[in-house]
Amino acid sequence: MTKDNNYYNVHQWLRHRYGNANKCESPECEGKSKTFQWALLKGKSYKHNRENFWMLCRSCHRKYDMTKEWNKKISKANKGRKFSEQHRKNIAISSTGRIIPTETKTKMSKSITEWWRLRKLKSIN
Ligand SMILES: [Zn+2]
Repeated sequence: MTKDNNYYNVHQWLRHRYGNANKCESPECEGKSKTFQWALLKGKSYKHNRENFWMLCRSCHRKYDMTKEWNKKISKANKGRKFSEQHRKNIAISSTGRIIPTETKTKMSKSITEWWRLRKLKSIN
């Protein structure tokens, strides 16, 4: 209950203060969707803090949440045993429809980090 109220409050606050999400801030956006939403960043909590959120199109939002769910599932399934490299690849293919090479993943997470760093600098100045 409290959590739901908080969720509602924070989303209302975001919209009130920053407006409706009107673009996709994902560095890997494919521009597939024109519907934009405020999304909670991984590992962040529902707080009145713009930096805990980013704007995502519906396509990226779904992908982003799916990855979150997927990670959760994997870590649960992974308890007590280890997947082989091939098994991991199979899972990656079935959940995303394509293989993301480790190199790309590293690049992606780097670009996100860089993006947030720049954004922080901007908001301070
Ligand atoms: Zn997008």
